[in-house]
Amino acid sequence: MSVTGIRSSLLKQYLERTIPAEFVDRFSPATIAFAAGLDVVTQTSPAVAESILAELADQRQNVKLIAGENFASPAVLLAAANWLNDKSAEGVPGKRLYAGCQNVDDIEEYAVSRAKKLFAADHAYIQPHSGLDANLVAFWAILAHRVQNPAVLGAGGRNVDELSAAEWRKLRTELGNQRLLSMSLEAGGHLSHGVRSNITGKLFDTHAYGVGPSGTVDYTDLARMAREVRPLILLAGYSAYPRLLDFRILRQIADEVGATLMVDMAHFAGLVAGGALSGDHDPVRYADIVTTTTHKTLRGPRGGMVLCRSEFADAVDRGCPLVISAPIPQMMAAKAVALDEASTPEFRDYAHGVVANARRLAETLVARGVPVLTGGTDNHLVLVDVRPFGLTGRQAESALRSARLTCNRNTIPSDSHGRWYTSGLRFGTAALTTLGMGGDEMTEIGELIYLVLRDTAAVPGSSSRFYLDPAVGQSVSRRALALLERFPLYPGLDL
Ligand SMILES: *Cc1c(COP(=O)(O)O)cnc(C)c1O
Repeated sequence: MSVTGIRSSLLKQYLERTIPAEFVDRFSPATIAFAAGLDVVTQTSPAVAESILAELADQRQNVKLIAGENFASPAVLLAAANWLNDKSAEGVPGKRLYAGCQNVDDIEEYAVSRAKKLFAADHAYIQPHSGLDANLVAFWAILAHRVQNPAVLGAGGRNVDELSAAEWRKLRTELGNQRLLSMSLEAGGHLSHGVRSNITGKLFDTHAYGVGPSGTVDYTDLARMAREVRPLILLAGYSAYPRLLDFRILRQIADEVGATLMVDMAHFAGLVAGGALSGDHDPVRYADIVTTTTHKTLRGPRGGMVLCRSEFADAVDRGCPLVISAPIPQMMAAKAVALDEASTPEFRDYAHGVVANARRLAETLVARGVPVLTGGTDNHLVLVDVRPFGLTGRQAESALRSARLTCNRNTIPSDSHGRWYTSGLRFGTAALTTLGMGGDEMTEIGELIYLVLRDTAAVPGSSSRFYLDPAVGQSVSRRALALLERFPLYPGLDL
């Protein structure tokens, strides 16, 4: 096998030596890698290997409309499956607690530089293991920078360990009583934005903003609320909001009330990376701190990342040991690969395709009379109210899945079925766009969704059981399979 642009003779020798040409002629490198990997796992744990393989089949045989899921490339997956696992690397590049971190340093520095360039950010921190971790790092960086450091300085100390027991007690009370203003879960916000059942809800005095009657954020209302609450942090970002956010206006509101502007772009980072969200819709231009997952529209490994202005860089880099006890080197490697992929012209096309596909899906549903929240979408998300079909979100989700359409139920503003059953469905186009699907396929899928909703009935008295006309279920399932056959997952992967 030969690849151009390889920097080290180590990798060159490896590529020339290890995979015989006759294999490369017959199978793609990904096929060889995953087949060999599964063989190796099978020797120890056949049951696990079987489930791994079964998951591939499942993802190939169902239409993935879950908005926060995607299909990572073989390069991303393989960068995360190796002996980098076995290196401890507490700290940041050049400042580690353990010897022998040169290669991890190289990987982390590379990923950080890629992230900074891709998002035009002053600083990047790529260690968070998840979106929640990234948010915890960001929250604590803000608390450290704005509350803790001034208090420590005021007490004449250099760090928290030098405070007296009484000073520390007072500071802890202060840290635990800061105000956070964030979007409510029902309006599309996330659990980690101060919901009581999550650690973030126990950490902050949370105040939530919702959406107006049209389903969109009313900035005048939000500004009024910000003046009342005077939060330490104004947080924007969502998991289920189908419209654009104007980060320039959010910046003005934050400035007016002295809040730090934090944006959680977990869901739409890929759209920002690919330029589908830009200008006033690019949070990195306006926010002090931006957090994200790396596995949703960004199409990388499961993980998180923080971008910030220089002012917060030191505090953010203390994420380990503050929140993260140690980075996961193989996941940082996979993030670096994903960031390389997201820096290509193909990814720009991808990001724009995701948005165009969502729009088409929404239009198809609207044309069929399915109530699409806000009447459409500006991003990768389409939200639907299923109550007119006499269903809960849970029933609709299960009915669709039984016909090979995988999506998730979701709370919607003014939900009448609670957070478990819900009244809504959330669809996303990130994964299907990765498969190469376009407008015609979105029309077909919109049609299939409509047919299932139309012909599903709730079992009386139940919020979860449903009856889907079997003929319709079978027909939709067949059409879904036909679609998936034309857009195979990992076409070069012969498994
Ligand atoms: C998915 C999501 C998260 C959480 O990410 P995890 O990696 O699952 O912890 C945080 N914030 C938002 C807005 C999300 O959509």
